[in-house]
Amino acid sequence: MKAAFYTLGCKVNQYETEAMTELFRKSGYEIVDFDDYSDVYVINSCTVTGRSDMKTRQAIRKARKLNIDSIIAVVGCYAQIAPEEVLEIPEVNLVIGSKGKGQIVELIDRLKKLKINKLNAVHDILKDKNYEELEISTQIEHTRAYLKIQDGCNQFCTYCIIPYARGTVRSRKLNNIIDEVKRLSHMGYKEVVLTGIHVASYGQDLGDVGLLDVIKRVHEVKGIERIRMSSIEPTFLTEDFIKEVSQLRKFCRHYHVSLQSGCDQTLKRMGRRYTTENYREIIERIRKNIVDVAITTDVIVGFPGETNQEFEETYIFLKDIAFSKIHVFKFSKRRGTKAYNYPNQISNAVKTSRSKRVIELSEQCEIDFYKRFIGRKMDVLFEQNVKGMDGFIEGYTDNYIRVAVPGDIRFKNCIIPTTLKEIKKDMVIGEIVEGK
Ligand code: SF4
Repeated sequence: MKAAFYTLGCKVNQYETEAMTELFRKSGYEIVDFDDYSDVYVINSCTVTGRSDMKTRQAIRKARKLNIDSIIAVVGCYAQIAPEEVLEIPEVNLVIGSKGKGQIVELIDRLKKLKINKLNAVHDILKDKNYEELEISTQIEHTRAYLKIQDGCNQFCTYCIIPYARGTVRSRKLNNIIDEVKRLSHMGYKEVVLTGIHVASYGQDLGDVGLLDVIKRVHEVKGIERIRMSSIEPTFLTEDFIKEVSQLRKFCRHYHVSLQSGCDQTLKRMGRRYTTENYREIIERIRKNIVDVAITTDVIVGFPGETNQEFEETYIFLKDIAFSKIHVFKFSKRRGTKAYNYPNQISNAVKTSRSKRVIELSEQCEIDFYKRFIGRKMDVLFEQNVKGMDGFIEGYTDNYIRVAVPGDIRFKNCIIPTTLKEIKKDMVIGEIVEGK
């Protein structure tokens, strides 16, 4: 039997696809490409924007064309938010939401055994209080492993569908996290990225443990050389937390601190729990304690009621903070969230032009950040050949500078001191320090 996977959305989804892949493999399935003929197609969906839902539907149609007799399972956030809508799609046989991915193989067996065409296995996620344990021992990316440490979010920002799709905070047991890190280290991974829906909330439901404990315990695992954090809410970054992690050699000097808007009125309407002034202080705190730190962020443009004046405030704030990269998202209204019914929705044309300006600013910010390191010697963890640049291999510094050097795949998964020479588009061309 063959199984194929298609993943949309965030790193948590990617992690969960890996875990499901391992379950299928252990049950004797051969894993094939999503473009190939398969007996089972699993689509791990996302619902963060309307576009994500559309991509899921496209993947469903594609799977059916590849094998009209296959079983098509749609799992994840879109299935969780709209199980009936997804199951009504004629091609779909099984829906599983955010919980129950660990039972996917059994559910498919049940479908086959009972010879039924449709099965809804979606649970009420807001009632769920326990973390669903899923495990991985390997990942598609071969040098950096994404490690899921928690699920859910209790913040209920007014634009965000995630708490309804993922439920409230459930944290993974610390011992299970460490066992997985040891397995990953044993497989040769040198870098782990602590991933979750709201990593800062880690431990809230467990009581006696927090994110700092996770970081410290992962830091002790032999073979792991780098620990990165996927994204963090600004309010969590206390002086104590920053000081403690700045002492940990393996903790990467890279913070992705979600901003979402640089205008206080917009932040308030978004239901974010900080002001621009708080945010600025937090960034200063990080920069004071961590030399050469890279600070990246997310921003949403075109939130309902965002006037030109409000957008300009955001733009100026972004420029002022001097991020090393800005990820921009156009507001997408999601049914079930408060902002869905907010007045003064912004036209797509305005969102597009604001987004374009932020993308241009981000490109400039990245260049300005890279410039500071030209001529410096930095450790680079090499990952893969550079697409479209024969004879070059690329990797990242701990503060997330993308570096390419002449070399081949033998450098892969090695951390090598490299001199940063010149900026080329979105990367820096470097030279391996002689004798290394
Ligand atoms: S913090 Fe806000 S934006 Fe982030 S997942 Fe939670 S509700 Fe969504």
